[in-house]
Amino acid sequence: MLAPIKKLAKYKNKEGDIMHQSNIYFDYYNNEIDLTADELKYFTEIVNKIKSKLNYDGKILNSNFELFDDKKVKDYAVGICFKNENDYRIFIDNYFIHECYEALTKDYIKTLIENKTIESVICHELAHIKYWNHCKKHKELTEKYIKMIK
Ligand SMILES: [Zn+2]
Repeated sequence: MLAPIKKLAKYKNKEGDIMHQSNIYFDYYNNEIDLTADELKYFTEIVNKIKSKLNYDGKILNSNFELFDDKKVKDYAVGICFKNENDYRIFIDNYFIHECYEALTKDYIKTLIENKTIESVICHELAHIKYWNHCKKHKELTEKYIKMIK
């Protein structure tokens, strides 16, 4: 969310892989946990809804942001938009998806994720396709998208 659009090719993890789709996140004890089938279904349904309402056909994928060296991505971002030539890819962090799913039934989690939702984060990243920086127009477009998907 805080990280602006990046060139995909620059985004390599320790193994030299560029960011790719993955269903794993790490828990507090660094165990590798797979998103559950319900969590994945929840995420996919949101992605499909947004794609259909905004008539957007690009890639919106989930990944494990902790695998990436960039501290901004690792510690703060829950969504990121990459550009490779004219191909855009949006990634949403698996741990954030897990938290959002938990927040559906547990009120205390809601306070942890503040007012962020998977929908609002994807809209924020989609607005980066048009506006690279966090300018006023980026904010307005994000808000427009959020209204359009309701
Ligand atoms: Zn941003």
